[in-house]
Amino acid sequence: MNVRPARPLTPLRIANSFRGHVSIPGFASPRRLVLHIGFVILTGRPLTYTLSSPTPVKREEGKFFGVVPLMSTTLGERASLGRTETVESTEAQPRRGRNDREVIVVGGSAAGLFTAASVARGGLRVRVLESKPQFEPAPRTLIVTDHFRHQMGAAARESIINEIRRFELFTDGRSAQVALTKPDLIVERSRLIPALAREAEQAGARLSFDTRFLGIGPNARGLRLEVESGGRCEELHAGSVVGADGAASRVARASGWPPIETVPLVQAIVRLPKDCPSDTTRVWFVPDDTPYFYWLIPESPERGAVGVIGEHGSDTKRCFESFLEKKHLEPLEWQGARIPVYRGWVPVRRQIGNGEVYLVGDAAAQVKVSTVGGIVTGFRGALGVSQALLRNGRTHEFAALRRELRTHWLIRRALHNFEQKDYSQLVDLLDASTRQSLGEINRDESTRLLWNVVRRQPRLVLLGLRGLLMGKAERG
Ligand SMILES: Cc1cc2nc3c(=O)[nH]c(=O)nc-3n(C[C@H](O)[C@H](O)[C@H](O)COP(=O)(O)OP(=O)(O)OC[C@H]3O[C@@H](n4cnc5c(N)ncnc54)[C@H](O)[C@@H]3O)c2cc1C
Repeated sequence: MNVRPARPLTPLRIANSFRGHVSIPGFASPRRLVLHIGFVILTGRPLTYTLSSPTPVKREEGKFFGVVPLMSTTLGERASLGRTETVESTEAQPRRGRNDREVIVVGGSAAGLFTAASVARGGLRVRVLESKPQFEPAPRTLIVTDHFRHQMGAAARESIINEIRRFELFTDGRSAQVALTKPDLIVERSRLIPALAREAEQAGARLSFDTRFLGIGPNARGLRLEVESGGRCEELHAGSVVGADGAASRVARASGWPPIETVPLVQAIVRLPKDCPSDTTRVWFVPDDTPYFYWLIPESPERGAVGVIGEHGSDTKRCFESFLEKKHLEPLEWQGARIPVYRGWVPVRRQIGNGEVYLVGDAAAQVKVSTVGGIVTGFRGALGVSQALLRNGRTHEFAALRRELRTHWLIRRALHNFEQKDYSQLVDLLDASTRQSLGEINRDESTRLLWNVVRRQPRLVLLGLRGLLMGKAERG
């Protein structure tokens, strides 16, 4: 890991310290990034033909000229190429000749590689396109529930760097502890992604780096993709495309999905304070600073990740600086990006001509909005997409994931309007039996968790309802 000396936090420093790996440096809006990467210089010649098809396929669209936003030239800024459907609604449709056509996954990170491995294991030809020139995923300290262990198999073991057995919640001088029956896992993303890539390759998927997706359109056989690979424009063909290209997904925009809302998340790696055990995560609710929370996640007995989710980049930065100062924590290294806010189910499939496009992970906002965790839910989305591709559209995974994400959305809506007195009351209400529920059932079974907590502490319902109603009143 890259250890840097502590210097004052500035947006520029945050941006620089992300070393180009972070999708939205310095909390800039994702739309700006799309604009920056959304242009390509095109010559008067037709783009090169596909390298992956056995026989060259002729372009079916007109030539492209000049410097233009490719997406809008190909599709029109808001063009709707296809119909967006939940997979369940299309499951009865037979799709002929699917197995002989390639599945192209755009984005070689957590959700994309997980999808690629599952689809390749099921016997389909899979190719992953990753825009980064080489495989050096930026370090990122992640906390996940033990669900992760069941999802991942062998690859999980080498990316787990610590286990968390306790949560300490703080607000306004109060505190409460929750002991976990099954420990949470601390995962290092720069180990996880290579492990997932190996699994995908072993299953038969091909990985192409330095290959950036630019645009998509229908052709007679399925889908035609414009990509830029090693500085050259190419055309590829596939029966199905999976957009796993993150919160600012170009696949989604090019296929007609509307943009999703994002919030800035920033983490600093710090020396672990002496009074913080390495198996304990600390969470601070400070509603004057953020409707979300601050956290300190130990990744080892020596180091931890302290972070915050905010709503507005500059305010978040200012609050985070003063929080670090108050806690005497010196940043050694920075991690950050914008992450999606789930505000309702994003239908994961669109039909474009004879082809189909799916979204997974952050591209489909498959993020638990109560805690803004997207790894486990992104894998669940990936499992759903791979099942849909392999079983002619049939999967129950999306219905379950949708329920899960909706419950987190409900919890977030209530918490989002909490004032200091509400958080104080919340911590006071966490009696022994409520804390037991919180420790026994993990955050990836939110409906069961919510039901159990509420059964043991009914006054929490009133508190939650108050939060929901305050939000309604403010919006009204
Ligand atoms: C600092 C930080 C801490 C976090 N902590 C946690 C946590 O503790 N627990 C948790 O569960 N979640 C956490 N998250 C969220 C989690 O990391 C994300 O939800 C998850 O990584 C999303 O994975 P993804 O594969 O969907 O997208 P991404 O990881 O964003 O991957 C998208 C990939 O697509 C590639 N790409 C983009 N555009 C193109 C293109 N045009 N052509 C080709 N390739 C392209 C990118 O290079 C990238 O490799 C955290 C996020 C951040 C930023």
